[in-house]
Amino acid sequence: MEEILNYIDGVLIPLDSEKTLDVYNPSNGHVYARIPHSDTSDIEKAVQAAKRAFPKWSATSINERHDILSKIADLIDKNLDLLAEAESRDNGKPLWLSKKVDIPRGSDNMRFFANAITQFSSESHEMQGAINYTIREPLGVIGTISPWNLPLYLFTWKIAPALAAGNTVVAKPSEVTPLTAFLFSKLCIEAGLPPGVLNVVHGLGHTAGAAIVKHRDVKAISFTGSTRVGKEIASIAAPEFKKLSLEMGGKNPNVIFADCDYDQMLKTTLNSSFSNQGQICLCGSRILIERSMYDRFKADFIARTKEMKVGDPFANGTRIGAMVSKVHMEKVLFCIQLAKEEGGKILTGGNRIFPEGKEEGYYIEPTIIEGLPADCRTNQEEIFGPVVTIMPFDTEEEAIALANDSDYGLSCTLWTSDVSRTHRVSKKIHSGIVWVNTWLHRDLRTPFGGMKNSGIGREGGFEALRFFTEPKNVCIKY
Ligand code: NAD
Repeated sequence: MEEILNYIDGVLIPLDSEKTLDVYNPSNGHVYARIPHSDTSDIEKAVQAAKRAFPKWSATSINERHDILSKIADLIDKNLDLLAEAESRDNGKPLWLSKKVDIPRGSDNMRFFANAITQFSSESHEMQGAINYTIREPLGVIGTISPWNLPLYLFTWKIAPALAAGNTVVAKPSEVTPLTAFLFSKLCIEAGLPPGVLNVVHGLGHTAGAAIVKHRDVKAISFTGSTRVGKEIASIAAPEFKKLSLEMGGKNPNVIFADCDYDQMLKTTLNSSFSNQGQICLCGSRILIERSMYDRFKADFIARTKEMKVGDPFANGTRIGAMVSKVHMEKVLFCIQLAKEEGGKILTGGNRIFPEGKEEGYYIEPTIIEGLPADCRTNQEEIFGPVVTIMPFDTEEEAIALANDSDYGLSCTLWTSDVSRTHRVSKKIHSGIVWVNTWLHRDLRTPFGGMKNSGIGREGGFEALRFFTEPKNVCIKY
């Protein structure tokens, strides 16, 4: 049984056997580790350590911060195999995916913000008889709360800009996937990150997470997770006037016009539907297809989906691994049942499967559903699994209306070769991100985030550095 430990004030804290939570390996349903069931007293220690570390860390030079964050990035690269294996064991995602995407993105995040802070600058406004200049100062202690779907990837996406900007951090990874955050703590020690600059506290959302949100010395909260929890966090943090960045759920449309590059579209749509078992906030789950191409797309999409191998994340050839937990698998199976009750026709998939030797693991077939109206629960509520609906449309206006018919507004993928249509439709879509003829194509300098119930604020590039700093204007008369 592995022991996953809190990292507070520069050291790993031994586990209190009276206060632990089990961690499951979703590929076989077995408990493989224990984490601290941290409470208010653990958060208090972490916040106090972060507070003590802040004056010195915020006064370090940009070059010092650059060097240490770069060193952590190098250590992630050096430990790629170990971290990828840990991520797949903890989350159920295929090993090749952890190796190709999750872990490299963890080091990219650290390196990107190590460099970005060396390029960050503030504004100056000259006026008649006076000059204004703006100083951007770090906020103090930041709380970061991250989800289980891209564990190290999203954990570092918050920590890196917060630290680069000179803040200290109390971070809570998801209790469902704590392993790579623990290994990351060890890399921070190896890299020589000063004590208290980063503190990683494990535990449940409503105990450890809520204690971070409520703590009066935590000046800002950066959260990625469900809209339900984001709302709860906002209700506590907003009246305290804490800065808030909320990255939440999605119900993203793929809008496919008949003039697109068909082969490229089909290949990418398989990925945008089922990558990471459909557990990416940016997956397209409502697929809208121009009617003249509907039957062709439907036949090919079903055939290609049936070819996708579901099974052991560590086996060669696995395209789709295990769902992250039993609770989440059951939620997704419930959603499939609901789709049937709403009149949906399951074109392929729809069932839990039991791969040989992994019968207790949490596996679901990739599922395509047809015949549902836009306003039903299946088309309105986030499922966050390998489940998509397909719907035909006749006109551009109808496609835009269907795409925007959602309380969410995270991302949209548009497929067309008509340049004018690209601009027209992109402008009218209500989402924070529009991908045209591509998906999950990321430049870390761009603003990242959602509209409506998908989020408040933007991450990425200088947007993140602005969030993690407080601007102060100085006006000098001459
Ligand atoms: P979740 O909201 O259940 O949990 C996210 C984190 O919040 C976890 O660390 C959890 O412990 C913590 N938490 C739970 N209750 C809390 C509380 N009361 N106070 C403080 N913290 C609390 O989400 P999840 O199930 O881990 O992740 C899936 C969700 O995340 C999906 O809705 C998905 O769309 C969303 N997501 C969004 C983005 C984005 O960038 N917009 C990215 C990834 C995932």
